[in-house]
Amino acid sequence: MLDDYHNSLSRAAREAIDYRKRTEDAERTPIASPTQMNAAFAGPVPEHGEAGEAVIEALIARAAPGLRAMTHRRFFGWVIGSSHPVGVAADWLASAWGQNSGNATGAPAAAAAEKVAAGWLLDLLDLPRDASVGFTTGATVANFVGLAAARSELLRREGWDVEGDGLFGAPPVTVLIGTDAHATVYSGLRYLGLGTRRVVTVDTDDYGQMLPSAFEAALKQAEGPVLAIMQAGQLNTGGCDPFAELIPMVRERGGWTHVDGAFGLWAQAVPERRALTQGVEMADSWATDGHKWLQTPYDCGFSIIRDAEAHRRAMAISTSYLPPAKNDERDPSAYVPELSRRARGFSTWALIRHFGRSGIAQLVDRNCRQAAAVADLLRKVDGIEVVIEPVLNQLMLRFGGDDAATLSTIEQIQEDAILFAGPALWRGRWIMRLSFSSAATRDEDITITADAIAAAWAKVGELA
Ligand SMILES: *Cc1c(COP(=O)(O)O)cnc(C)c1O
Repeated sequence: MLDDYHNSLSRAAREAIDYRKRTEDAERTPIASPTQMNAAFAGPVPEHGEAGEAVIEALIARAAPGLRAMTHRRFFGWVIGSSHPVGVAADWLASAWGQNSGNATGAPAAAAAEKVAAGWLLDLLDLPRDASVGFTTGATVANFVGLAAARSELLRREGWDVEGDGLFGAPPVTVLIGTDAHATVYSGLRYLGLGTRRVVTVDTDDYGQMLPSAFEAALKQAEGPVLAIMQAGQLNTGGCDPFAELIPMVRERGGWTHVDGAFGLWAQAVPERRALTQGVEMADSWATDGHKWLQTPYDCGFSIIRDAEAHRRAMAISTSYLPPAKNDERDPSAYVPELSRRARGFSTWALIRHFGRSGIAQLVDRNCRQAAAVADLLRKVDGIEVVIEPVLNQLMLRFGGDDAATLSTIEQIQEDAILFAGPALWRGRWIMRLSFSSAATRDEDITITADAIAAAWAKVGELA
């Protein structure tokens, strides 16, 4: 027993430190395919046990070829934070301490870390200080929780108790959503019985931001209770819906505004970037991620809800064997669709403390400047199109004016392995998308990245 915890934990710690050192400078490529990884991990059920350290050794050996260097400083794929070492260290402790953080009496330290970190988040993002915060697995679940609270409250105002009576026979809710909303919001609608096909979609501009005139027209036509879903940080453009114009219309109509701000909501933490999210604090619920711009390890997101009562009604679990939180206590499970759960408050608390308000603002601002600087360098290269001027941290590039050349350049980039970027479809055309969302990215990576992209494009151009 003693041997297991000493040897297993120290072997894992050594590997973790070595891994981060190895991936600091080198993107390794190609990595093993999912099929190769299936083969590496496969085997019959072990009939007999094995020493912990040997198992950890075997795990490291099998996983290593299939680990993508997502913590690397030039990893620009999807929208990925750096799994910051301080957050990882706090998260190791969350595992080692083995706290089931559902209940305040059961796990006082985990509950308190969440409670305090929740208050810090509201302050940093400048959202109502008495809003209620759930620590989720990510923005997908945070969107779900926000939409669940919306559903509960909008129907309660119609005299309908959705928690008790379900949706059959309930007054229909009209959902308004921009045409460039994130796919995960539709998952939330699906889980909640609000349907993905019966939404009213609202036209957007070149940045995927809802057009106020189109929104106003859709709102005029809407019948029954209205749920408006807006976005801070469109996945491809970084654009934000014009909250200051749209949210007052929803308020006037007695509706609920939910904002998917998985990464874009963090513009709120940077005084110089707040013009982009102006008015977002008027919404009723917000979803954002810890594991993107706050750099926590996976998984961590936050569901923030103005109406604490609606939040609790939609999520709280009560049972005789769990004493409910009293006074200033907080039961973490009352805000999320989970009972037994990871203590996500530890890594969130640790990282906010590590960066501080100024460090978070600098990090977000630095990433935005890096995106703009790479765009400026590449705009000068023949055949490379900066699809739209970056407004936040997302950069879209197109090569040779066509899909095939763009996809070939992405392949070349991945083969060269100086950086990682992937493809996405935008307005029916393939683009290379880079997300600057890592604390590991340095300013010297700007020229390295632009040079590597120009070189990959040159290679593709020669072959064509
Ligand atoms: C990443 C993202 C999501 C989903 O968040 P997860 O943390 O992956 O669950 C939702 N919306 C937007 C805009 C995103 O960028």
